[in-house]
Amino acid sequence: MRVSALSTFRCFAWTTGLLLAINLHAQPVQATQDAMVADALADKAGTEFLTHLCDDFGGRLTGSVNNRGALERTVAELKALGVDAHLEPFTMPGWIRGDDEVEMLAPVHRKLRAASLSYTQPHERFEAEVVDIRDGREEDFTGLKTAGKIGLLAATAAQSSRQLEEVATRHGLCGILFTDRVAGGELLARTGSFNGVPLRLPFFAITQEEGLWMVRLLKRDEKVSVSLLTRSHCAEIETANIVVTFPGRTPDLIVAGAHFDSWDLGQGATDNGLGTAQLFALAKALQAHAPQNLRTIELVWFNGEEEGLFGSRFHAASLRGRPVAAMLNLDMVGFPIAVNALGYDELVPVLQRFDASLGKRKLKQGVSSITWFGSDHTSFQLEGIPTITLGGTIEADVTRYYHDFADTVEKVDPRMIPESSATVAALVYRLANEPGLAVARRTPAETAALFRKFDLEKRMTNLGLWPFGALPPAPKKP
Ligand SMILES: [Zn+2]
Repeated sequence: MRVSALSTFRCFAWTTGLLLAINLHAQPVQATQDAMVADALADKAGTEFLTHLCDDFGGRLTGSVNNRGALERTVAELKALGVDAHLEPFTMPGWIRGDDEVEMLAPVHRKLRAASLSYTQPHERFEAEVVDIRDGREEDFTGLKTAGKIGLLAATAAQSSRQLEEVATRHGLCGILFTDRVAGGELLARTGSFNGVPLRLPFFAITQEEGLWMVRLLKRDEKVSVSLLTRSHCAEIETANIVVTFPGRTPDLIVAGAHFDSWDLGQGATDNGLGTAQLFALAKALQAHAPQNLRTIELVWFNGEEEGLFGSRFHAASLRGRPVAAMLNLDMVGFPIAVNALGYDELVPVLQRFDASLGKRKLKQGVSSITWFGSDHTSFQLEGIPTITLGGTIEADVTRYYHDFADTVEKVDPRMIPESSATVAALVYRLANEPGLAVARRTPAETAALFRKFDLEKRMTNLGLWPFGALPPAPKKP
């Protein structure tokens, strides 16, 4: 079926016609899906893409030379498949890691294994005593002399760096050492930023082992002192997303996205080389089997996710006024076991039909509908767009390294990309051809109600991600 002058159509105007058309062609949809799955399972291109991405560029911190090189290479590789990929430039508050120095001076002199948190700003070297501020809550400061000292924060601390900064400033601290949540010399587990605002105090992640060592010394009233020197700095940066469009027979959109950037210490293989490679494999599958569908499909590799969802916020804002049926976000998806309608319950039957269509490959945990926030789908949710995520297992012994040095590509099971890409391709193809998906946006009040239903308002507010009733300003074009 061809539809012309689409801009004048409203979704309900063509839905009935499509229902007919789709029922007539139900078999080809399933047959095409099955062919895509079979091909994806046999295809090594996604795994090869991921290996080269990781080994040739290392970490892909947004704004870095490596990130830019990886972007350009990915566009070139997509073009080599015949896929029309282009960069979507935007500017964002960036952060550049410098050669920072964190040393223990007493009781022993040694370099600490440490990494500054993003948006830590440069300062001259200074020395200070360390004080154990435990979880950094107001009550943890009772009886402590903290003025002019560096606060040692426990791995169990639950506040955002913004909240901690406030408390620390109020108590006269001049820096924070944040004990990592994962043992084994790890850094930067579960850290991130959501607003790109420079930190007023130096914040460093330190290892659990060195943090606990200091706690034991302080308990015995031993003096622990540390010197800090930060060369990392903030700067406005120009970067880009990668966008690929497969035009459909209607302007209704299905967006499939994954963040392209990573932290810089390792290779960002699981976080989120996986999603980057799954989108690559999806592009290849669509190009080969389904270049045109009922809905238009947009694939987007987002940059600036780790620093605050900047690329997805830019792209989601660029879709204002466009009919978007759903957005699928792929962030650290291993072997798929579940698909999540994220509280958009009208998508549940659609996803159940998708799951049934997988036949022998049916998802072990089926369909859920529980919202969560903090990856790129959140940017779309905040624009009122229904979103979906896939749950996929990665061994705990692999995910423990995310954000750090050891998130490297040899840890990715060679079957993971083919297996997950097959499911991703089936899902996106289904969504693009399933009749009757609505495109009406949620109002900000409805979106706020959805987050409240899952008790997320407080956590989102603490991270500066609660914009109701105003939407956050979209990042600017350069
Ligand atoms: Zn991620």
